Amino acid sequence: MGSMLANRQRYQEHSFMHYERSFLAALFLSQFWLAYSSEGSTGTLPQPYTPIKASGSEFRCLGRVTKLGPLLLPEQIVAAGQPLLAGPVRLAYESKQLMQGKGKLVEKSDDKASWQWTGGAGFPISVRMTGECDGFCWYEISLTPEPPVTLSSLRLEIPLQAGRAKYLHTASFTWGNFSGGLAEAGGKWSGPFMPYIWLGDEERGLAWCAESDRGWMLKDPAKAIRIETKGSVVLFTVQLLDHEEVISRPLTIRFGLQASPVKPVSFAWRAKARILHNVTYEACQPDPNGLMPLDTLREGGVKTVVFHDGWTDYYGKVATPYGDRLRKLISECHKRDIKLLVYVGYGLARQAPELQGHHDEWSAIPLIPWTTSYRPDFRNFDAACPRSGWADWLVKGIDRLFADYELDGLYFDGTSEAWQCQNQAHGCGWKDDAGKLHSEYPILAARDLMRRLADAVHRHRPDAILDVHMSSNLTLPTLSFCDSYWNGEQFESYTSKDKFELPLHAFRTEFMGYAHGLNAEFLCYDKRPFTMQEAIALAWVHGVEVRPYTETLVQVTSLWRAMDRFGTSSAEWLPYWSGSGCEAEDASVKVSAWATRGKALLIVSHLKRAPLKTNVHLDRKRLGLASGPLSAVDAMTGDNMEIKESVLPLDFDGMSCRFIEVRDKHFRQR
Ligand SMILES: [Zn+2]
Repeated sequence: MGSMLANRQRYQEHSFMHYERSFLAALFLSQFWLAYSSEGSTGTLPQPYTPIKASGSEFRCLGRVTKLGPLLLPEQIVAAGQPLLAGPVRLAYESKQLMQGKGKLVEKSDDKASWQWTGGAGFPISVRMTGECDGFCWYEISLTPEPPVTLSSLRLEIPLQAGRAKYLHTASFTWGNFSGGLAEAGGKWSGPFMPYIWLGDEERGLAWCAESDRGWMLKDPAKAIRIETKGSVVLFTVQLLDHEEVISRPLTIRFGLQASPVKPVSFAWRAKARILHNVTYEACQPDPNGLMPLDTLREGGVKTVVFHDGWTDYYGKVATPYGDRLRKLISECHKRDIKLLVYVGYGLARQAPELQGHHDEWSAIPLIPWTTSYRPDFRNFDAACPRSGWADWLVKGIDRLFADYELDGLYFDGTSEAWQCQNQAHGCGWKDDAGKLHSEYPILAARDLMRRLADAVHRHRPDAILDVHMSSNLTLPTLSFCDSYWNGEQFESYTSKDKFELPLHAFRTEFMGYAHGLNAEFLCYDKRPFTMQEAIALAWVHGVEVRPYTETLVQVTSLWRAMDRFGTSSAEWLPYWSGSGCEAEDASVKVSAWATRGKALLIVSHLKRAPLKTNVHLDRKRLGLASGPLSAVDAMTGDNMEIKESVLPLDFDGMSCRFIEVRDKHFRQR
């Protein structure tokens, strides 16, 4: 008891330390402290973002450079060292005049900058754009047709280089939207309004988003968004008007653009995080020999544990009546160098005292209910909208939680989703000319909430881990302030019997995180549809780990140990899609590798549920292996394996993977 006060005091002392010089400084500091302790932006940049650079014609942020053209739209974007665009982004409509105007930078801090542009072609257009430290750019383009103009087409066109637009991820905060290879989809895709679209390759990409199609004038709304491959160009079109119309009223088009990766990811980060799902208060109950479940987890290589929603007494609460037990668990975790993350959801139990009087204002409407027969009083809830009072309640609660407990981070379950909503009680929804109410997706509010939560946590714990479960919705504007994501629950309705296969292009689109700038982990519920062995084969060949539960930890521990012995955190990653230097004779086998002086660690995955004998051919030059004899070792068991010249003969019982270390004559046992 009393450690809550102790923690607060320690925090304040730490914060004040450098400023105790004079009364004046103290006075300044009290104001600083007020600003600092209010929720919301602190004025300090969230790690690892760097101060942005902005001029009238350019926006630079961590890892990305955008050259701004007419209407402040990108003329070119360079991300992860490569240009994304095949031509300037443009607002296209019939006009005999050339788009002309002037843009200027109107505001700039380390965190964000704002630009204004005025001009037009045929009628006046004004633009306001804000670019933030994570690369998120928000546009408000206002058209003022005075006198009225007749247009038959108005569209936003983003021409991407086809080689940079291999994968398409669409998201509307549900499951089942298209996500996969563009070529595999026939090179094109079209659909009705979709709040989030990302196109990219394995290392970079560009996201577009909008909260609604308000102001769009479409006779064929089913084709509001179109993606077409035309030779070396993938043209992404947002159709705003598709028929002749007299435009007599001002019109504002709002959307976001965000190039990725938003930040670097690394195998080293993952090796330090090693997250296990899930622990309970029983994890620090000693057995008759004095051993706790936490000891077993530590022995198994776990470095972070997630406590799911049972850490408190109602779903979605961010305070707990079990404070003594939480402190004890935190303390036992820390004694073992294990970090503890607790669960934050996307609503609050209907029965929770904290929700009484707020349910109707906080809920997304139409309701998105979660109803379960397992502990219904504890768990039944309706999704909350981030534009409602729930956001302030949550940020305040998290700030207090981290002041009271030495937690190491948060596990967000659905918190990053901008649920479809038309709840006018908190300002969602919009009415068309006929008075019909339409929904919107509050992406800006969800983004603001996630930023505020990240800031609140980092004020107390700068190195906290923020991990998100967001299955099927890899939406960067709402995820960029977090570290990692856990994805795969969207397949849970399939069982082993369905023999479900996830195409590799779909895995590369959404489950790797390299191109997005978030560390990724794959989610596996046993046999829904993948067994742990199958999930490991599918994910690990992409360099993506499968997050273990206590029951499945044993299968992951041996992989972690093999990776550590080899030193994958500092080795070169050679994935199968960019020529790993390893080729199997059978197309159902993919091989990725880590390579470092004189040795390579191969991940050989057989991706069909059938036995197979095959050979893997090694390209020594690509793998950095010298001529002369090679030896091969099963990296999990340490057993020697057969290798003939540069060919590895392998046997598989079914869908599974092998970890094989290949060594040349220079290899020396450490
Ligand atoms: Zn709402």
